[in-house]
Amino acid sequence: MAMTSLHLKPPICVDIWTCKLYDPEGREYLDLYSGIAVNSLGHGDPDWIRVVTEQAHTLTHVSNAFYSIPQVELAKPLVACLFADRVFFSNSGTEANEAAIKFARKFQRYSFPDKKEPATEFISFTNSFHGRTMGAVALTSKEHYRSPFEPVMPGVTFLEYGNIDAAGKLIQSGKIAAVFVEPIQGEGGVHSATKEFLQSLRGACDDSGSLLVFDEVQCGLGRTGYLWAHEAYGVVPDIMTLAKPLAGGLPIGAALVTEKVAASI
Ligand SMILES: *Cc1c(COP(=O)(O)O)cnc(C)c1O
Repeated sequence: MAMTSLHLKPPICVDIWTCKLYDPEGREYLDLYSGIAVNSLGHGDPDWIRVVTEQAHTLTHVSNAFYSIPQVELAKPLVACLFADRVFFSNSGTEANEAAIKFARKFQRYSFPDKKEPATEFISFTNSFHGRTMGAVALTSKEHYRSPFEPVMPGVTFLEYGNIDAAGKLIQSGKIAAVFVEPIQGEGGVHSATKEFLQSLRGACDDSGSLLVFDEVQCGLGRTGYLWAHEAYGVVPDIMTLAKPLAGGLPIGAALVTEKVAASI
């Protein structure tokens, strides 16, 4: 399956939204894969085609020295969530997490300038997936993603997903810049956090000055019936990372941050 070349039946029919794909022999597939949680609108969604086409006629890139109106228009509904004030856009979920790693380190140095050893370490959990760059892969629990490329970013401790005591203890150490957690895990199997687990992470981070990062790259953007998975828990993060379905198949990622975090960037 992974090695089969799939395509939309040419010519792409712009007025029929479809989840059907075809291999070179013409066999039809119902695309339950959805580009791994990316193609939430299916393929060839007419509104998607219209806005992408219109945008291609006006502007596609202006460098990060400038803002553009579409960036601002997208940022607005994203920060209309319960916690965020600002958005940093990137090209993937991996980069959004990479940004969150850097924001957390910078935040610690900026917020606690008198601390002898700034908090630079991270907590991640069993069955987590956060991406494939040397930072994001260091937060990804599965050995085989990391071991061929070691040494990856040091300073990451993996704790059992849901283990409140272990997380509380390590967060108290004062060494933890941020805790990365998926409210509902995706790649490692569909494991939902308990409310008590996320609440206890929030409380421990508030006490120690560590940041709480929710990776909603896979569980966010409506996949749980809530716009954000964490809404169901009533617990908010300091940073939330997004990507996958955000542009329906075009590369995009985002790190949403509070003003408190933004002030240090
Ligand atoms: C897919 C995924 C990522 C990485 O996103 P990319 O856009 O593939 O770089 C990060 N975190 C989670 C939870 C994911 O499912």
